[in-house]
This record gives sequence, C-alpha cells and structure tokens, in this order.
Amino acid sequence: MERKEPQGVKLEHITKIYEDPKTKKEFAAVDDVCLDIKPGSFVTLLGPSGCGKTTTLRMIAGFESPDKGEIYLGSKAINELTPNKRDTAMVFQSYALLPHYNVFDNIAYGLKLRKIPKDEIKKQVFDMLELVELSGMEGRMTNQLSGGQQQRVALARALVMQPGVLLFDEPLSNLDAKLRVTMRTEIRKIQQKLGITAIYVTHDQSEAMSLSDEIILMNKGKIAQKGTPQEIYYSPKSEFVADFIGEVSFLSGKVKSVSDLSVTVDVNGVDVQAESYGNLAAGDSCKIVLRPESARLTDCGAGIPCKVVFSTFMGAYQYYQLKAGDTLIKLNDYNPRGHKIFNAGENALLNLENSKLHVL
Ligand code: ATP
Repeated sequence: MERKEPQGVKLEHITKIYEDPKTKKEFAAVDDVCLDIKPGSFVTLLGPSGCGKTTTLRMIAGFESPDKGEIYLGSKAINELTPNKRDTAMVFQSYALLPHYNVFDNIAYGLKLRKIPKDEIKKQVFDMLELVELSGMEGRMTNQLSGGQQQRVALARALVMQPGVLLFDEPLSNLDAKLRVTMRTEIRKIQQKLGITAIYVTHDQSEAMSLSDEIILMNKGKIAQKGTPQEIYYSPKSEFVADFIGEVSFLSGKVKSVSDLSVTVDVNGVDVQAESYGNLAAGDSCKIVLRPESARLTDCGAGIPCKVVFSTFMGAYQYYQLKAGDTLIKLNDYNPRGHKIFNAGENALLNLENSKLHVL
C-alpha cells in the first residue's frame, strides 16, 4: 500500500496547568517540556502514575490545549487546530469501538466521513484487515471479538486514516500479560513496516524498552531523561531513572580518583572502576549503578566481600540476594551450569572486573 511521508513532532516549552480538585491549588501537570520526535521513529512516554505522560499525549492529539508553548507537526504549528484537523490518530486503552457496527464499518467509519468512494474504502479496509491479521472477520460485531482482536480493529481504524503520527494511550493495559507481549511485538512490526511515526504512552518499562527507538522518561511533569533504551538502561542520570528502568542495586562508595570519563571508587575497601559524566571529584560520596546481570560471584581472587542471603535457580540464571555491609544486592548469574552455586549463608566475593559500571 502506498503511504504518505511520516511527520515529525516538536514540543517547545509545553506547560499544562491544572487545579487540584481537593486543595484548589494550581500545579503544572506538564512543566516546560521540550521534545523533538523524528519522522518515522517510535517514541514512548514512560513514567509513574500522574507524571504527565497522558496529558502530554492528549495535547499532541488536541484533546487538551497547552497553557504555554507551541506544538508542531512537521513544520506546522497546531495549537489552534481541533483534533480532527490534526494529522494524527489515536489508539485508546478502552478501544473506543462503535458497538453497533461490525468490524468492517468500524474501520471504514473515518473514510466514509471523508467521502472516499466505496470501492476504494473496501480495498483499504481489506488491506488493513490483512495487516492486523483479521482477514475474514469483517462481518463480526465487536462484542464477538476477544480483547486482543478488538485492539487490532482499533489499530486498523487508526492506521486506515494514514495519519502522519499515530498516538497510543496505554493500548495494551486491558489485555492479559501474555497477549500484551504478543501485541506489542505486532505493533512494533507494523510500525516498522509502514515507517509511521508513533508516540506511545505506558507505565510499563519493559513495554517501553521493547518498543522504542527513544524513551522519554517523565517524573512530576518534567522529563527525567530521554534516550535510546540502551542509554537509559546503562547510563541513567539519576537514581529515579536507574530504579524505574529494570532491576538495579546501588553500591555506596567514595571517589578516590578521577580521570577523563572514568573514576576509581572505594567500595567497602575495594577499588572499583566506573564510568562517570565528570561531575564527581575525589572525596565525593557516590553510588554505583549495578544491574543484576553485570557481576559474578566467586570464592577467590578480587572482589567485594559479601554474604549470600538468598539463592535460587531460575533456569536461565541463578538469582542471588547478597549483603555487602548494609547494602542489599540483587544478582542474576546467567548460564549457571558449570558455575559454582553459592547457598544462603555462604560468604562470597562480588566480582565486578569485566563490568562496565556507571556511577551517580
Ligand atoms: P496515569 O499513568 O495514571 O494515567 P499520567 O502520567 O498519564 O498518569 P496524567 O493523566 O497526565 O498522568 O496526569 C498528570 C497529573 O495531572 C495528575 O496529577 C492528574 O491527577 C492531573 N490531572 C489530569 N487531568 C486533570 C484534570 N482534568 N484536572 C485536574 N487535574 C488533572
């Protein structure tokens, strides 16, 4: 199917003020947010409940208007345009299908409003049914579909309008865990196949990681960090970011020396090398970001002394909880066959030698 060019989206110093219904005080639900989303990319707005991600998406769609700042679609300023005049389409958490229409008519609805010729509508709807793997289901009523099938219809209905930007508001929240994983893979495949720009709201970090070219992690109305999933996972800029994305343990230490982009940190009397952004000086207290897969347990050689407090076999890895001084550390020792397995109560050494560590 021939498609038009995807659009980029730009947010310039966007602020949205709401009044707290209880205290009657005004607060910034979205606070001076700047974003530059490239055409054809898949970007997720991620963050805890209430951080402002849905409000940001709704401002892009035109369901809310910003109190400050300007939103651009391509080079066009769109603040003043109503949702139907914007080149966007939204897939909602609740599907928002028309209950008295069958699958075909749900998908065709927007095209009929645009007064597209009947034959053309039929072709486009059948193309979409094939894309979302619902061929043959066009005559079904929406209440005869599973949740996953309903969400596919919602996706087809948005895609058939050929929007410059596709918006998703937690579209998989109502599906069971297994179906969420299947559907997110399909959404990503379809987005890549069509090369469409997608902006996706979720509070699920694994969903954000697996879908995105870029993650925008928000906290209290502001952007805590933006970057590729790898940048956010390996080089978080704060404890909030490190903790929100993936499993993490923090090792407290003191900076001994600093050189270029690396630091030597004293952790419980052991020297550890880590990368830093150059904001640390000798003598500073700091925290090493330790991902569960980035260290090994040994019983001899160099390492930070620790005590095993929990040890269990998970198939792909042996899962440990360790205590180094007062610090609790979580560790996944992958491919444990052939590694020494430590049991709860044993002493061990936490070996960080081959890890690329990040320090805050
Ligand atoms: P969730 O994952 O729970 O949907 P979110 O990150 O999408 O959270 P938003 O829905 O954008 O958060 O809301 C941001 C803040 O603004 C929250 O504190 C919310 O209670 C508040 N808020 C949202 N809509 C309104 C409104 N119409 N009036 C007043 N406050 C609002």
